[in-house]
Amino acid sequence: MTVSETDYERTVAHSDPILQMRDTTVSFGMERGESRVLDNVDMDIERNEVLGVVGESGSGKSMFASALLDAVVEPGHLRGDITYNSGDGESLDVLELSKAERKAYRWEEVSMVFQGAMSSFNPVRDIETHFVETLEAHDYDVGEGMERARQLLEDLYLDADRVLDSYPHELSGGMKQRALIALSLILEPEALVMDEPTAALDLLMQRSIISLLENLKERYDLTIVFITHDLPLVADIADRVGVLYAFEFVELGPTDEILEDAAHPYTRKLLKSTPNLESPIENMRPVEGSAPDPVNVPDGCSFHPRCPLADDQCIETDPGPYDAGEGRFVHCHHWEHAAEEIPMDEFTDLDDPGAPNRAARETTDRVGEDPVLSLDDVKVHFEKESGFLDFFEDPPAVKAVDGIDLDIYENDVVVLVGESGCGKTTLGKTAVGLQRPTGGSVEYRGDDIWDVRDGNGDGSRSWSEIRRSLQIVHQDPGSALNPHRRNNKILEAPLKRWHDDLDGNDRRQRVMSMLEHVGMTPPEDYYERYPHQLSGGEQQRVALIRAMLMNPEVILADEPVSALDVSLRVEMMDLLIELQNMFDTSYLFISHDLSNARYIAERTGGRIGVLYLGELVEIGPPEQVINDPQHPYTQALRWATPELDPAEERAEESPIREIDIPDPTNPPSGCRYHTRCPEAREVCAEQTPGSYDADTASPLHRGTCFRMVDNHEYWSSPSIVDEDEDGFGSPSDESAGTAPSDD
Ligand code: SF4
Ligand code: SF4
Repeated sequence: MTVSETDYERTVAHSDPILQMRDTTVSFGMERGESRVLDNVDMDIERNEVLGVVGESGSGKSMFASALLDAVVEPGHLRGDITYNSGDGESLDVLELSKAERKAYRWEEVSMVFQGAMSSFNPVRDIETHFVETLEAHDYDVGEGMERARQLLEDLYLDADRVLDSYPHELSGGMKQRALIALSLILEPEALVMDEPTAALDLLMQRSIISLLENLKERYDLTIVFITHDLPLVADIADRVGVLYAFEFVELGPTDEILEDAAHPYTRKLLKSTPNLESPIENMRPVEGSAPDPVNVPDGCSFHPRCPLADDQCIETDPGPYDAGEGRFVHCHHWEHAAEEIPMDEFTDLDDPGAPNRAARETTDRVGEDPVLSLDDVKVHFEKESGFLDFFEDPPAVKAVDGIDLDIYENDVVVLVGESGCGKTTLGKTAVGLQRPTGGSVEYRGDDIWDVRDGNGDGSRSWSEIRRSLQIVHQDPGSALNPHRRNNKILEAPLKRWHDDLDGNDRRQRVMSMLEHVGMTPPEDYYERYPHQLSGGEQQRVALIRAMLMNPEVILADEPVSALDVSLRVEMMDLLIELQNMFDTSYLFISHDLSNARYIAERTGGRIGVLYLGELVEIGPPEQVINDPQHPYTQALRWATPELDPAEERAEESPIREIDIPDPTNPPSGCRYHTRCPEAREVCAEQTPGSYDADTASPLHRGTCFRMVDNHEYWSSPSIVDEDEDGFGSPSDESAGTAPSDD
C-alpha cells in the first residue's frame, strides 16, 4: 500500500482519539541542571491510524513511547495528562493507574515492541514458554491463547510449530522480531507502540515486516505508533507523521502532505539529508550543526541555531503551533516561507572546488587497468560443529563465500550489498587478508597474499607491506578503538610506524590538521580525549583517520554509516569520499542499504555488487544496477528500499516468494535464489547460472540469471511458481530454521 492510499482523511473526518497526551514532560534531575527529554507534548493518536514518529537519536522518541505506557524508568519524572479511550467507551487516566491496572493496560490495551528482539526474550526459555507465561500472568485461557499465538505467527509468515519449539538463538533476527510482534499481540491489545522495531534488520526484512504490519492492522483492528529515525521507512506505512526535534513535535500531518511539502525548516532539511534512490544525489545535503543538549535547549525556537530562516522573533519566542491546513500543525513562525527558502531541488555544484565531492569518474575507465586487488574464484566455507547424531556424516559447511571473482582498481569503489548472512563481511575480510580463503586466490598487485604470508612468495613484497596497504574501518568504531588510549596516541601510532621521517612535533601537527579536517574542531579539544568521550560519529571519524594515516591502497569499510542517524549519513559518506581523494585510496564498502550504496557509488564512479548466499549475483555501475536491475534478487532489494516520493507507486505484491533466507549450510540447488524467485522455472532448480553480460549501457554490468540470455532453455522451461501464492507465499520448510550468521 502506498501512503496516498491510506485512509487518513476518513480518520480525521471522524476524530476518535484512542490516546491523548497533554502537557506531558519527562525530565531527569542532573548535576548540570534539569534534563527535559520530552517537553510539554500534546498529541492525539486516532483510533486505527498508523502514526509515524520520526526523529534523530536523542530527540525524545523513546521517551514518547515510554510515556504512552507510563513506563519511564527512575529517576525519570513523568508529568502531564495521558488518557486512554478504549473501544468500548471507557476512559483511563494512564498516570493514575494502580500497579495491577497498569500491568493490564500495558499488555491488554496498549502493547509495546522494542528494537532488540534478542534482549526481549529470555535466552534460556523457548519461545512457547514466553507465550504461556504471558497468558498465565494475565489469567488468560492458555489453550485459547496459544491458538491465537499460532494464528499470529502464521500471519507473520512463520512456521508456528517450529518457532514455538525454538530457543531465541535458533531464530534469525527477522524471525525473532516477528515472534516478538506476535507475543505483543497475544492479549489482544487495541494499540501497538513500536520503538524502532526494524532498525536492526535488513532492508528486505524491514520492508517485509512493514507489509505484514499493514495486514495485521487490518485483521486485528489495531492502532499503531511506529517510532523510527528513518523517515522513508515510516512513509510507507504511516497515515500521519509527527516530527520530533529537541524533545517536542515540530510538525505533524498526513504523511504524503509532509513528504510533498514539509512546512517546518527542520523537516525539509531532514528530507534533503536522507539518501534515497530517486532524488538527484546533488540534492542530498546534511543538516548542518548538531541537536541541542537536553540540559541546554536554546530559548525561543530550539532549532534557531541551525535554521537559515532564524530571526530575532525565533530567538525570543517559542513558536506555534500554527495551523498549516489539511490537518497539519507546525511549530515555526515562518513556515509559510520555508518552501521558498529551503527548496527541495537546490543542487550542490559538484564542479565547485569547495564542494565535498569530485565529479564521478567514468567507470568504464577501469576496463584494461591492472587491479590492486584481484579475487579469483574465492571460496570461504566454514565447518559447523556437528552433533552426536552427525558423527558418521561430514560436518555441515556454511558456504559463506562461494566462487567469487572481483577486481578492485586504484581509486576504485565497490559497494557490496545484500542481506545478513549473504557473505558481505566474509568476502570483505577475505579481500583485505583478514580471512584465509578455503579455495581460490586473493592477489595484491599480482602477489598471492597468502603465499606471501606463508613465506612462499618471491620475496619482492613483505606481508607487513600488504597488511599496511589493506585496512579496515569497522561498523562499531567504539569496539575498534583502544579504550585505554587517547586520540593522540591512537592516531600517532601509525605515523610513528610508517613515517619515521616525522618527529613528535610533525606528528602532532599532522594529527591536529586531520582532526580539524574531519570537523572535530577545535582539534585541541579532541586531541587528548579517550574514545568514550566521543559521540559515535566522532569515533567513526577517528577510526577513519587512523586507517588513512597508514596510507592504505584499499580500505574495507564495513557498514561505516549504518549506526548513524539518517541525517548524518550523507555527511559521513562525503567525508569518506573526500578522504579517498586526499589519500588516493580505494574502498570496498559494505552496506545493507541500497540508498547508501547508490550515494557512495554514484558520487565516486564506483560499482555496486549484489551478494546472495555467498555468490555475486549482479555487479555494475549504480545507474544500471539500480535503474535497470537484471537479477530478480536485485529487483527485490530495489522494491524493499523505501521511497520518499509519495507519488511513486510501489508494487503492492512482494517480489520475493519467501521472507526468510534459506539455510546457508544447505543452499538450494541450481540457482540459489530459485526458492524465493518469482520468475523461477524448472531449469533454475537444476542448473547453475553463469555470469552473463547485461544488455545495458555499461560493459561492467554483469549478472547471474538465465533471463539475461536470449534463447536459453529457461524460456521453454515450465514455471515452478505456484500461481496461488500471494505475496510471500506461505511459511515453508525450505526457509531457514537456523539463524544466518550476522555477517
Ligand atoms: S521558528 Fe524561526 S528558527 Fe524556528 S524553524 Fe521557524 S524560522 Fe527556523
Ligand atoms: S536463474 Fe531462475 S531462479 Fe535464478 S534468478 Fe534467474 S529466473 Fe530466478
